[in-house]
Amino acid sequence: MKVINSLKDNERTVFSFELLPPLKGNDASKIYEVIDSLLDFKPQYINITTHRDEMLYQEMPDGTIVKKIVRKRPGTVAIAASIQHKYGIPVVPHILCGGFSKSETEHVLIDLNFLGINNILALRGDGNKNDAVFRPDPEGHAHANELVQQIVNLRHGKYLDEDMKNRTPLDFCIGVAGYPEKHFEAPNPESDMEYLKQKVEAGADYIVTQMFFNNSTYYAFVERCRKAGITVPIVPGIKPIGLLNQLTVLPKIFRIDLPHELSTELAKCHTNEEAGIVGKEWAIQQARDLVAHNVPGLHFYTYGLLDNTRKILEAVF
Ligand code: FAD
Repeated sequence: MKVINSLKDNERTVFSFELLPPLKGNDASKIYEVIDSLLDFKPQYINITTHRDEMLYQEMPDGTIVKKIVRKRPGTVAIAASIQHKYGIPVVPHILCGGFSKSETEHVLIDLNFLGINNILALRGDGNKNDAVFRPDPEGHAHANELVQQIVNLRHGKYLDEDMKNRTPLDFCIGVAGYPEKHFEAPNPESDMEYLKQKVEAGADYIVTQMFFNNSTYYAFVERCRKAGITVPIVPGIKPIGLLNQLTVLPKIFRIDLPHELSTELAKCHTNEEAGIVGKEWAIQQARDLVAHNVPGLHFYTYGLLDNTRKILEAVF
C-alpha cells in the first residue's frame, strides 16, 4: 500500500509515527514493543529514520588525535523490512543525500524493491557535525529535489547506467520534508517555498512537516503552499514533549519556536513527569484541532516517549 493512497482517503485523518533504528549493539525488541503498544490505533504507515556516518575525533593516551567514522544507528533498511513483514504495515525508510553517492542510493532502492518496500521519504540530511555547512558526497546529491528526481527516473526504468539492458521500473511513493517555520538555512520563506515546489514538481507525492507547536503556523504554511501551486497532501508532524530539557533542546536541534504559553508552563516544571503532562495536554489540543480541520494525517515523532503518545491517541482518536 502506498502512503499517498492512505492520505487521499478524505473520510478520516490517518495516524503514522516515526521510529529510530536501534543504537548499534542493541537488538530490535524495543522497536517491536513500541509498535505493539500502538497497534490498537491502526497506524497506516511507520517511518524509519536514517543516520549517516559521523566523524568523531578521539584523543589517544599519547595525546594524538585520531579521526573515527562511526554510524551509531545502522540498519534502517533491514529494520524497515522486518517491521513491514512482521506487522504488514507499510514502512517508509528515510533516504538521505548526505553521505551517499548516487550509485549507493540506486543500490538501496533496488534492495527496497526486492524487499517489497515501495514508500520512501527523500531528504537531504544535515551536515556533518564538524562541518559548518552541508557538504554533499562528491558523487551524490546536493539537495533533496535531485534525489527525488533520481527516484522518479526509476519509475520510468531510467537507471544511472543508461546502457543497461534490463530496466525494470521501480515505482516508489515519495514523501519530502516541509518546514512551516522555514528551513534554518533558507534566507527567507519565499526561497524555501520555491525549493519545496521544486521537490514536488520533481515528483514528490506528499509533504510531511517538521514539528511545530502552534497550529496557526501550519495552517499558514498550507495556505502559502496552495498559493504557490503546491497541491499535494501536507501531513503535520506532531512532537509530544516528554522531557524537561526539551524546552531548550528542541529549538536548538530542530530550529523551531515553542509558543510563549507552552514555554512558560514548561519552565514551571521540576521533573520530566511534570513536563510530560504539559507536553501531552498541549499535543492533545494541537491534534484535536488538526483533526477538526480535516488534515490528511497526523505524523507523530514518538522517539521512545511511548506513554505520552498512547495517551494522546486515546484522547484524539
Ligand atoms: P532540501 O529540500 O534539500 O532543503 C535544504 C535547504 O536547501 C533548504 O534551506 C532549502 O530552502 C534549500 N534548497 C532546497 N533545494 C535547493 C536547491 N535546489 N538549490 C539551492 N537551495 C535549495 N535527517 C536525517 O539525517 N535523517 C532522517 O531520518 C531525517 N528525517 C527527517 C524527517 C522529517 C519529516 C524532517 C522534516 C526532517 C528530517 N531530517 C532527517 C532532517 C533533514 O535532513 C534536515 O532538515 C535537512 O537539513 C534538510 O533536508 P531537506 O530534505 O528538507 O533538504
